[in-house]
Amino acid sequence: MKSTTINLKGIETFSYAIVVIGGGLAGILASIIAAREGRNVAVITKKKPGKASSTAYSMGRFSVAGTKMTKEEHLEKSLMIGEYLNDKELLEKMTEEAPQTFECLREELNLTFSSHDMGYIVADGEKPLPGANLMEKLVYKAMEQENIDFYSNCLPLELIEKDGICGGVLAVDSEGKLTAFRSEALLISSGGYAGAFANTDNPPTMMGEGLILGYRAGCALRDLEFVQFYPLGFKEEKLPSFIAPPRYPPTALLYNDSGEDIIKKYLGEDWDINSATIGKRGALSIALETEWQKEQVWMDLTKCVDTDWKGVNSKPLYDRYNFDFSENPFRWPYSSFYAGWYINGRLPKYRN
Ligand SMILES: Cc1cc2nc3c(=O)[nH]c(=O)nc-3n(C[C@H](O)[C@H](O)[C@H](O)COP(=O)(O)OP(=O)(O)OC[C@H]3O[C@@H](n4cnc5c(N)ncnc54)[C@H](O)[C@@H]3O)c2cc1C
Repeated sequence: MKSTTINLKGIETFSYAIVVIGGGLAGILASIIAAREGRNVAVITKKKPGKASSTAYSMGRFSVAGTKMTKEEHLEKSLMIGEYLNDKELLEKMTEEAPQTFECLREELNLTFSSHDMGYIVADGEKPLPGANLMEKLVYKAMEQENIDFYSNCLPLELIEKDGICGGVLAVDSEGKLTAFRSEALLISSGGYAGAFANTDNPPTMMGEGLILGYRAGCALRDLEFVQFYPLGFKEEKLPSFIAPPRYPPTALLYNDSGEDIIKKYLGEDWDINSATIGKRGALSIALETEWQKEQVWMDLTKCVDTDWKGVNSKPLYDRYNFDFSENPFRWPYSSFYAGWYINGRLPKYRN
């Protein structure tokens, strides 16, 4: 570890077997497992544990080998979605261990999951915020453990070096006081950094500070370009601009001003709007950007019948706006645009 000279004299110091930074699914689950093995654990979270986490904002959906797919299929699907840029070894580990971790969650949380075409989802009864429910239950379980202490509204500043390895972390506690947490092991599970984008569906607190802690201590960072974005969003002036995540009605069409079907033109006959948005996200984004440079891109929903809307997550969003999507798209078209650039701040918002 890169050595930093921190003088801890006069600074209140706590000692734990394990310090966990971050109170999302990864951090809380790890702390419960460690506590059950008899370790004393400190969980340091920027906000209240479980809150302001991507897990709480998510749909509580898990892809895991089981009845719907084998481990091999899970691996292949994950590689495909990452356009084969992923770290295969890590993915192998993930797909191998996912069923076991999922089972642990079932036990820990006593949650029921329903089968979903991508794996499992927290059961319907848990809606409207499945991810938040999941976190609430998990944090509650962690709080039952006597050997887990929570330090909320606490901001880690610098890892503490001891004998060449990490020996804890220096943090500012909820009252603005410098506090040292000494530990035999430290886990950084503070999530990603998508909160740094101007438009994001992650909590704005997700700023990647955990990555910076590691970096400053000499860790190499990698795969930071793996930021998920959805290629399609609204640009129709009668609608607010928003990113429209899949799934879309399967009969939805994307075409340019010349009437060419963009997916067929660039990706071939084997892809449709849903499979392309998930499995060919990069290629579809480039196709959209290429078309966008020349002419408009339209999404046509006029062919959709009621049953096509089944399983469309953003249906309530579509419904909210007084806009008739079943109208002739040439009269009231709405356009998609390359939301990846949008969330990176290149395109202006089109509202008003
Ligand atoms: C809208 C949405 C939908 C999603 N849908 C899916 C899906 O369908 N399937 C899927 O597999 N994944 C999905 N994800 C991604 C998934 O939710 C995340 O990958 C996962 O929840 C990450 O868990 P985590 O514990 O690593 O991080 P998080 O749950 O984000 O937890 C990180 C924790 O660290 C804390 N923290 C951050 N910075 C600091 C700091 N400096 N100091 C201390 N604490 C800090 C945060 O407050 C938070 O408590 C979705 C995410 C979102 C936002």
